[in-house]
Amino acid sequence: MVVNLSEQYSILCDWIGEIRDQEIQVDRMRFRRNLERIGEVAAYEISKTLPYIEKEVQTPLGTATAKTLKDQPVITTILRAGLPLHQGLLSFFDKADNGFISAYRKHQRDGSFEIRLDYISCPELEDRVVIVSDPMLATGASLVKTIQYLREEGHPAEIHVVVAIACTVGIEYVLREEPNCRIWCGAIDDELTAKGYIVPGLGDAGDLAYGIKVQM
Ligand code: URA
Repeated sequence: MVVNLSEQYSILCDWIGEIRDQEIQVDRMRFRRNLERIGEVAAYEISKTLPYIEKEVQTPLGTATAKTLKDQPVITTILRAGLPLHQGLLSFFDKADNGFISAYRKHQRDGSFEIRLDYISCPELEDRVVIVSDPMLATGASLVKTIQYLREEGHPAEIHVVVAIACTVGIEYVLREEPNCRIWCGAIDDELTAKGYIVPGLGDAGDLAYGIKVQM
């Protein structure tokens, strides 16, 4: 299942425009905050798909029936670019457990790259709803590697993927490898360059949020 959150007109479309706009991108705080806001909207949409239980709560004037999230999800992100989206998800799922994975592109001299997973810190995943966030779904290679790792480690009940911008080939690849995961996208673009950048995309999300890295 793929949901394009900007298919319908909403204020989210404005934030997508801002993260793409190179004149506005230079304001790193705004760039990060816009990614957070996209994470908040995605959290709200995902929350509609989760199970709830009813419990009685005492108000100062009487008793009310409150619909309460049955189980807390596990929110995981791919360092470093995923942090602002993660923060947005966490603002809404504020009692969630959190996992962090460092996946990076190890570039070769010929321009090709392979995905390496490095630092991993995850809570119990068995039978739980897991939400993985990464701002850019480009080739899909790092997402698939991350999801495969999570499945092997803990057999989650459901996996949701939250991205700010996805490209169609990346979505197709993820769904081919992981047909049951649900992908929530801020926007979907058609083109991917040979170096794995989304066009028109927005550039390098990690660099825009946190500063230009040097290649190791
Ligand atoms: N990662 C980014 O930051 N940007 C892209 O376009 C693709 C992957």
